Amino acid sequence: MINLIHQRIPTICFSKARNTAEMIYRYARESLEKDAPGLADRVVPYRGGYSAAERREMERRLREGELLGVSATRALELGIDVGALDACIVVGYPGTLNAFFQQTGRVGRAGRDSVCFLVATDTAINQYIMQHPEFIFGRPIERAVVDQDNPFVVLGHLQCAAAELPVKENDTNSFGYASGLALDVLEETEKVRLIDGAWYHASSDQPSRDVRLRGYGDESTIIMDADSGKAIDRLDKFRALRIFYPGAVYFHLGDTYEMVEHDFDRNLVRVRRSDVAYYTDPVTGTAVDHVDAVLDKRPLGTGQACLGEVFAVLSTPIYERVRFYTLDRISQHDTDVPPVAYEAMSFWLETPPDLPIKVAELDMDPESGMLGILYCVSRILPLFLTSDANDFDWSVGCRNTPWHTMFWYEFYLRGIGHSEQCYERLDEILQVALEHLLTCDCEDGCPNCTSRLITPYHVRNIELGEGIVASRKTAIVVLNSLLTGKEPSESFALLQAPRKNRGQSFLPALQADRHQEEPHRLPLNDRTRNLMLRKLERASLPQQPVDHPIDFELKVGDPPRQTSESLPEKKPETDAQKAGGQRGSDLLTPDLRRKLGALAKEQAEPDTKGDAPSISS
Ligand SMILES: [Zn+2]
Repeated sequence: MINLIHQRIPTICFSKARNTAEMIYRYARESLEKDAPGLADRVVPYRGGYSAAERREMERRLREGELLGVSATRALELGIDVGALDACIVVGYPGTLNAFFQQTGRVGRAGRDSVCFLVATDTAINQYIMQHPEFIFGRPIERAVVDQDNPFVVLGHLQCAAAELPVKENDTNSFGYASGLALDVLEETEKVRLIDGAWYHASSDQPSRDVRLRGYGDESTIIMDADSGKAIDRLDKFRALRIFYPGAVYFHLGDTYEMVEHDFDRNLVRVRRSDVAYYTDPVTGTAVDHVDAVLDKRPLGTGQACLGEVFAVLSTPIYERVRFYTLDRISQHDTDVPPVAYEAMSFWLETPPDLPIKVAELDMDPESGMLGILYCVSRILPLFLTSDANDFDWSVGCRNTPWHTMFWYEFYLRGIGHSEQCYERLDEILQVALEHLLTCDCEDGCPNCTSRLITPYHVRNIELGEGIVASRKTAIVVLNSLLTGKEPSESFALLQAPRKNRGQSFLPALQADRHQEEPHRLPLNDRTRNLMLRKLERASLPQQPVDHPIDFELKVGDPPRQTSESLPEKKPETDAQKAGGQRGSDLLTPDLRRKLGALAKEQAEPDTKGDAPSISS
């Protein structure tokens, strides 16, 4: 980006995360201040959350050609006239061809020459695209099927539409294949009524209050500059819980601020400008605490798949300071943020009770395999539904299920229909996951297949015998045995077979015409109908302070915090690590690890209930 700006080529750089966009801007500005001070003011960051006035001003400068560089999030993808730009840098494949061409289409208007770069991150899809550019250039663009194929989203849209204007009977088809069922359910619950060939809103509720764009309430957290008293940013309350903790460094227009106070009651965060040479990376742990309601279950391979409502806990016990540029992890610090509990939709997979025992007999740690499966599945979900790899959290076991249960749960309060779709297609998803695990290039796990980056925090845990590293090999043995019913010792043979398609990953089977097929749809049967009814029922429950901090007895077994002196020497990074993201990583599971040894010997009952919540992911 800096090279392009030096050559006076107007450049836009798209990142997926707001922090990434801010950091790229910061680095670009600092570099230009050194080498070409006259250009430093001609670069800006752009993301949601800035005030309307700030954004309008940036848009004006862009349009009028005053700016040479903008580091943006998707907020700038659509609907804003950015004028004549000549170069586009996309940091990480945005997930769909639609979004990719929206972003790259921002440059080269009116027949001008342009250049676009895709910088691949370390996820499976990104690495695959680097080897198979035809994934981008050889396929038709996805049909825009996002919302209409999600019956739960349609349910909300129909309510809102009818509240605006009566929906004529022959217009209902434009709400997608599930509109008939959705209207049935809405009529049954007296939300709409059919009068003279049109559906009328029939309830005293304001449906737009219950229907949320991203699954959250309207509540947002305001970020205020403690010195000026001015509100400088806003973001949804739930996300703010992950970003703000005492000591957290927050970015605004590339500058660093430190958090002063988080007032949960007033949804207000005060920050103060502070020039520091690091940013902060929270080590968040999230886990399912317990299952509230099982909405459906069915056998899957030798195990059982379930769909239901769970109660999840999010905690941020520790954060790390990371130095700019070198990315050295300087030190770790405790936070005193109380864990937060929230309702989530989840799908989960329970292995038969003897499977982990047999895997342990092979001198493998079954939990390391389950963690690998959890991560792998979460990374490939965007192939099956329009979602982001970060839309799900995952963990092993909970209070009221067998410990050998793998949970994936939505990051959104009460879910937005993703879990239902994943549950429906779980067999296929797991097949693809197995294929991917079998063909990944690594030896026993990497960010492409089974785990996030390993930081010094984890290394130390592992050395203390308290951390578990996800294992690709164990994941293969567990998953293959579960899907095929083979003994783990037979599945083990897969590891000896030569990896014919090494590096090919799972995508060849899927890539060519995945998006040309009819999109997968939930069947319009009683189950979907009941799930819709349940969704309405939950939406009409009085608004609980669901994301309040709670006093929770939660033991995560964190090691004592380290100071910079006690941190191990930094090891040289691999390329994959350098490319990797920095999201707070796998919290470790000493409890489960200890339990595992005991269980392998003692477990006779499938329904062993752990009494401590386990934390992972
Ligand atoms: Zn791998």
